[in-house]
Amino acid sequence: MKGDTSPFRLAFFLLCLISITSVGVPSGRADDKPGEFPKFASELKKHFENLGWKDLVIEKSDWEYHRKSGGNRPLMFGAFGNRPEKVALFLGGVHGDENPSVYILFRLAQFLKKNPDLYSNKTIVIAPLVNPDGFLSKPQKRTNSAGVDVNRNFPTRDWKQSRKDRYYSGPGANSENETKFQIALMNRFKPSHIISIHSPLGCNDYDGPSSDLDSLVVWLKKVSKENGLPFRRYQVFPGSLGNYAGMERRIHTLTLELPSSEPLKGPEYFDQFKRMFLGILDLNP
Ligand SMILES: [Zn+2]
Repeated sequence: MKGDTSPFRLAFFLLCLISITSVGVPSGRADDKPGEFPKFASELKKHFENLGWKDLVIEKSDWEYHRKSGGNRPLMFGAFGNRPEKVALFLGGVHGDENPSVYILFRLAQFLKKNPDLYSNKTIVIAPLVNPDGFLSKPQKRTNSAGVDVNRNFPTRDWKQSRKDRYYSGPGANSENETKFQIALMNRFKPSHIISIHSPLGCNDYDGPSSDLDSLVVWLKKVSKENGLPFRRYQVFPGSLGNYAGMERRIHTLTLELPSSEPLKGPEYFDQFKRMFLGILDLNP
């Protein structure tokens, strides 16, 4: 075909232009209305103080967000390092009443910020508060603002078998913003390891590829030795992260169950688990 004015060529040109401009957009805070993040940060800070956490600083420059919770609060995350082939994703505050998980990950982000050499050969992505509405509600609650257990809402193949009581899995698979947020992080950063922090069962639970069982057992022994908690294999639940990320997407997924949900245990747990967190990508499964 001759000439550059055919509608097809024009459409193609426009398409290219659209894709070039979208790729060129920096990863800014798409939904960041003026004053929105500072307002959220001051709400968090007040809550942290009520929980007895006085050493956490929330600085906007450390965090990104593009999505919001059902209760319209930022779903924040921070990425440290730039090695896309070696990525660990940390998730905290999935259940809003499991306080130390939130403390530990804000502390981890602060610690990494001061020690860039610790992530020079890897990428560590931290989402310290997956369920801000449950965490900030009074009283705190396990579920999100719609009463859904965010750890039962993942679109696993067996989601329809999920329960409807304390572990209410939502009106549909992947119906909740907090679930979509976690999946978006997996899609964007493609982590080889996910560490999801909960409480208060006091153990390590693992889901992931089991094709190489020997090296897996070695890895788990190392993890258990590092963090001093026993390894227990729980059943896999419909709609849970372990089921979705570990079993279906074959990402090494460690659920770390801290021994207590007591907020003041946060600093102690940070000291206990810090080394394991930083070394997790080097403990080859
Ligand atoms: Zn939990």
